Amino acid sequence: MDVLLLGSGAREHALAWKLAQSPSVGRLYAAPGNPGIATVAEIVALDMLDSAAVAGFAVEQGVGLVVIGPEQPLVAGVADVVRAAGVAVFGPSAAAAQLEGSKGFTKDLCARAGIPTAAYRRFIDLGAAREAVAGFGLPVVIKADGLAAGKGVVIAETADEAEAALADMFGGGFGAAGAEVVIEAFLTGEEASLFALTDGVSVVAFGSAQDHKRVGEGDTGPNTGGMGAYSPAPCLTAELEARAMAEIVEPTVRAMAEAGTPYSGVLYAGLMLTAEGPQLIEYNARFGDPETQVLMARYDGDLAALMLAVADGRLGAVAAPALADRAAMTVVLAANGYPGTPEKGGAIGGIDAAEAGGAIVFHAGTAEAGGALIANGGRVLSVTGSGATIADARAAAYAGVAAVDFPGGFHRRDIGWRAL
Ligand code: ATP
Repeated sequence: MDVLLLGSGAREHALAWKLAQSPSVGRLYAAPGNPGIATVAEIVALDMLDSAAVAGFAVEQGVGLVVIGPEQPLVAGVADVVRAAGVAVFGPSAAAAQLEGSKGFTKDLCARAGIPTAAYRRFIDLGAAREAVAGFGLPVVIKADGLAAGKGVVIAETADEAEAALADMFGGGFGAAGAEVVIEAFLTGEEASLFALTDGVSVVAFGSAQDHKRVGEGDTGPNTGGMGAYSPAPCLTAELEARAMAEIVEPTVRAMAEAGTPYSGVLYAGLMLTAEGPQLIEYNARFGDPETQVLMARYDGDLAALMLAVADGRLGAVAAPALADRAAMTVVLAANGYPGTPEKGGAIGGIDAAEAGGAIVFHAGTAEAGGALIANGGRVLSVTGSGATIADARAAAYAGVAAVDFPGGFHRRDIGWRAL
C-alpha cells in the first residue's frame, strides 16, 4: 500500500520514520515535508489545505491511505474530501474535528455526556462575559473558542488581567477564533496527555506523555509549541488511565457517534489529574508535537496497518496495539529568538554523530541551502532517546543533543524534571 502523509513538523518526521518501517507500506509520499522527512519519503508539491489537490493526487497515484498530521487540514475538512474520493484517511472529519476546533463545542458535549471537566460558560458578547467573570473566582481561565496555535488561553490571576484578556479576544486579537469566548474555572493538579485510537466505535489507549510548554527551565517564560516531552507519564497510573478512558474518552466517542458525527483517528486528551480524579482540559484531533516523537520511539508495530484499521472501521478486529515497555524522551532544539522571532539560517551539524550514538533526530524547521542544513523555523530539531527508564531515556536524548552542533539554537536542560 502506498501512503501519503500531510505535514512538515517533527511530529510528521516521527510518523514518516515509523511508516517507512511498516512492512505494509510500498511508496511513502509526504507533502509539504521537510529535509528530514525527505530521507524516508518522496516529497510532493501539494498544498495540504487544498483538499481537491490532495484527493486528486491520492486517486491518481493509487494511494491506499492518507495520514493527516496537523489540525488545520482536519478542521478545514480535507479528510472529508479525500474520503469522498474513495481513499482511506487517518484523521477525523471536519464535523468531528470540532472537538479541537471549538472549545465551546467540546464543553457542551462534556456537559451532555457527564464528562468531568472544569465548570464553564460560553460568550459571544463582551458585556455578558465581563459580568460573568467575577462568578468564577480567581484565577480564572479565558479561552478563545477556535484554533489559536496554543496561544488562545489566558490564565488570569487578577480581575484586571481577565478584563484585558476579554477585551483582547472580543477586540479581534485572535481573529475569528476569538469571536466566541469560553470562561472556565481553574483546575489544580498535574497535567498529562492520553492518546487513544478510535474508528468511531472501538476505542483503545495508545500511550501517555507529558510535555513542557514554557520556553524556560523550571517551566518559566512564554508558552511555546512544546520544548520537550517524555512517555509514559508516570503520574498517569494504570488506574487513572483506566478511569480517564472510561469516564472521558469512551463517553466522548459514544456521544460523537450518537450525534451522527463519529470520530475516527487519534483522540488526544489533555488531562488535569485533580484530587477528584482526571478531568478533561482539552481535546486535540491529531497527534501531539513533541509527544508523537516519544510515542513513535515506543511503538514497534506496523503503524500503517494500524492506521488503516482505524480508517476502515476495523479497529475492533485487530489486536489492541501496545507501546513497548520502555521510556522515551525528546528534547527540542529551537532557534535563538523563539518563541518570538526566531533567527533563520543558523548552520546545523552533528546529526549523524547523534544518531550513531543511538539518538533519533527528527527535523522540524530545517532547510537545505547549498548542500548544508540550516535552521528555517522556531522549533528546529527534536532529539529523541529511549531507555529502560525515563532517566535512561533522558541520558540518551541529552547525549544526542550534545552531539548536535547548532550554535544558533538553544534547548532546555531540564526536560523530565517532574518525572525524575
Ligand atoms: P495547546 O495548543 O497549547 O494545547 P490550547 O490553546 O488548545 O493549548 P488548552 O490546552 O485548553 O489550550 O489550554 C492550554 C493550557 O492552559 C493547558 O495546558 C493548561 O496548562 C492550562 N489550562 C487550560 N484550561 C485550564 C483550566 N481549566 N484550569 C487550569 N489550567 C488550565
